[in-house]
This record gives sequence, structure tokens and C-alpha cells, in this order.
Amino acid sequence: MFPPLIIGRLLHPIRGRFNRWHREISRIAGELRKSEFASLDALYNIQRQKLCRLCENAAKTSPYFKNLFVQSGLDPQKIDLDTLANLPVLERATVHRHCKDMLNREYPVNKITQNATGGSSGAPLRFYRSHHDLIFAAAIRVREMNWCGMKPGYPHVKLWGAPTDVQSATAGIKAKIWGYLYNQKTINAFDAGPALFEREHGLFLSNPPFLLESYSNILYEFASYLKKSGKAPLNLPAAISSAGVLYDFQRTVIQDTVSRNLYNRYGCREMGNIAHECANHSGLHVHMERHIIEIINPDEDGVGDILVTDLENLAFPFIRYRIGDRGKFSIQKCACGRNLLLLKEIVGRTLDIIRTPSGRLIPGELFPHFFKDYPQITLGQVIQDRIDHIELRLRLQEGAVLDDIEPLLRKINEACNNEVTITVNMEEDFVVNPTGKYRPVISHLESQ
Ligand SMILES: [Zn+2]
Repeated sequence: MFPPLIIGRLLHPIRGRFNRWHREISRIAGELRKSEFASLDALYNIQRQKLCRLCENAAKTSPYFKNLFVQSGLDPQKIDLDTLANLPVLERATVHRHCKDMLNREYPVNKITQNATGGSSGAPLRFYRSHHDLIFAAAIRVREMNWCGMKPGYPHVKLWGAPTDVQSATAGIKAKIWGYLYNQKTINAFDAGPALFEREHGLFLSNPPFLLESYSNILYEFASYLKKSGKAPLNLPAAISSAGVLYDFQRTVIQDTVSRNLYNRYGCREMGNIAHECANHSGLHVHMERHIIEIINPDEDGVGDILVTDLENLAFPFIRYRIGDRGKFSIQKCACGRNLLLLKEIVGRTLDIIRTPSGRLIPGELFPHFFKDYPQITLGQVIQDRIDHIELRLRLQEGAVLDDIEPLLRKINEACNNEVTITVNMEEDFVVNPTGKYRPVISHLESQ
């Protein structure tokens, strides 16, 4: 292990001084350290100013929003926190349909990155993020690491799911060197199963990381494996559950086996991290300097649709974006002293795990990532009805044909270790849950 003290005292500050991106990340992280303890009024003021800048910019540079403001008769300069709701909700399908028109025509193209999500809500979605937005997102991650007690160079393991993330963290000599120096290790969670859990448990016991960060469903499967097989609890200093709903029953098992300090995080690929628990674990603090969260259409328990406005991505405005999850705010103030609003509960965005006869576990997040490589697929669904069989339901763009489905099936077969048969159906309707919400991956097998 590379000595964390050398990273924290020497390498990290040098990187922050001489690398332009890291210098900017450090600067913004410093500002965020101050504003997280600002009064709620001061935080709302930050949001007001950024919202005004976002709307003015969108109305001037994005053909889609220019048209939207003209048609709605709203003055972008007069959009405030209490009038934001006058703007229509931005649906995922709208982003899909108007992607090119939403783009800021005046933003330098060399400062924009295209991104796409298979997403836990299923349909592949293409969008853009400014480099500034990515830098701000990295500064937000610095804040979250601070909340977990993490310091640069502390051993950090990611049990991760998104193939692009795993690749960018492990491919190339540069990534490998930085990973080594910062004591970071990324494990491909698509191979998760008893063998991987057994191996990693042994490694964690002999060389425990400070932080284990993982997809919620994989973290829970890992914790369940440790519990059922009677393995020694790891008691790591910290763990983060990400990219899925963390249920109370899952939290209990993870805390008993992996870490007492379990932090829940909420975010998505389009926006980065949106909310994160502090050490008091009394809800998820919204990163208000970057996002405005609205809860609309609440039920009798106060749980409603989550809308997100990204205040920093001026290249591709996401204003009142329906993210596809439901949640509710907490009315209590956190004892940590931060005034950042608290999300109490988040519902949705959980994907089932596909299992194979040998016990391999394949996180549901894998399948939407496969679908997104096929632009002609607008929606896909994987349904497991038997341990050795899955059904693939696909909806294609109007008039499109899927000439060669073999590469897609090969990828799925490889992921499933060639242990399941696959039936493809183009005509069937998609299965929805009792609340009518579509889920891309559904397992009818009972949890083992
Ligand atoms: Zn707090």
C-alpha cells in the first residue's frame, strides 16, 4: 500500500496546484465546505442566482428552451424558486426527442462531453455535460468523501457496476498508476457471486479498505453472503451504497457485516450525485449549490415524483427533469448543523438481480448498458422466470430493424456464463410493477 500520508500531504496538494482540472476541483470543494454550513436563506440565494443564470442562458442559446419560453409566455429573467413550477416538466422522452435542440449553441464544443445512460429507467438516453459540470460534480464527490471521513490516499475499494466506469478506472497505464498511488481499487461487480465474495472477504480481512463503495443491490448480496456463510464481520470504517434504493432491511444486514458507518447516496448519470448522507444518517443532504429538487404529485405520505434542475450544466440545460424516482423531503433539521435540505426517502430505481444455476449474480444495471449500444432499441426488458431461462423483450424505433441480434445475445450469454437460455420477444408488452412503473429488469425468482 502506498503511504496515505504521502498522498495527503504531498502528492494530492501538488496535483491540485499544477493540474488545471484538479485546481478547479479543489477551489470549488473549498467553496462547498463553507456553503454547507450556510443558512438556508443563503443557500436559497445561491440557487436563485444560479437558476436565473441557467434560465437566461437556456432561453438565449438552446433552440428548445427558446421556443419553450416563447410558447409559455414566461420571462426567463423572472423565473425564481417559487415560479419555477410554471415551467413544464422535462420528461425523459423529451430529452430523447429534442436532444440536439436542447444543446447550447454557443457553448465551446471542446468543453462538452457527450454521455449516455442505459439508466435504471431503461430507455437509452443521450445527453451532454459541460466540463465545468463534471468538475463541479467531482468537487461534490470531494464533499461526500469528507462526510465519510475519507482522506486522499486512504484505501478505497469500489465494487462497481457500470462497464464504462469500471473501464475508465482500470484501463490504461495512467488510470492504473493513479489508482495505485491513491490506493483505489475497482472491482467489476458484473462477475459478483460467491466466488468473488469469498475472495474479496479474505482480502478485506487481511488488508481492509477504509471505504467500500458499491451498488446497493450488490453490497446487500455481499453482506447477505457474509451473514449466511457465517463469515467474520468486516467492520470497515465506512461504506457507501449507491445507484439504487437502500431498504432498511438491507441496511441492517450491511451494517452487521460490512460497516456500521453506511452512507446512502442518491444520484444519476445525467446529473452526477444529488444527495448524500452525513455521519448522522438522518436523511440524504441535497447538494443545493448544484441542484434544485422538487417533489410533485405527492401521495398521502408525502412521497411524490422527484424533479431535478441542474444549476451548473449550462451546455445542456436540465430544468425540472423528471428523473423517474419518487421520494419525500424530511421536515427535520439534521443535528450535524448543515442546512442543506434532507431527502428522507427515495423509492424506485431498484433493479433486480439475474441469477444463474451456478450461483452467479448479474446486477440488473448491466442490461440497460447493453441496450444503449443499439440505437434502434428504444426500450428493453429482461425477465427471469426460471433459474436457467430469461426472456428479452425489445421495442425498436418505428421502421427500424435489428439486423443482427447475435452480438447482443452473445454479450448477455457471456455475462450469464452461458448458463441460461434466452428467448427474444419483439411483440410482447412490457411488464410494469403495481404502480405502473416500467422496470428494465425483473426477476420472478425468490431471493435466495
Ligand atoms: Zn447532517
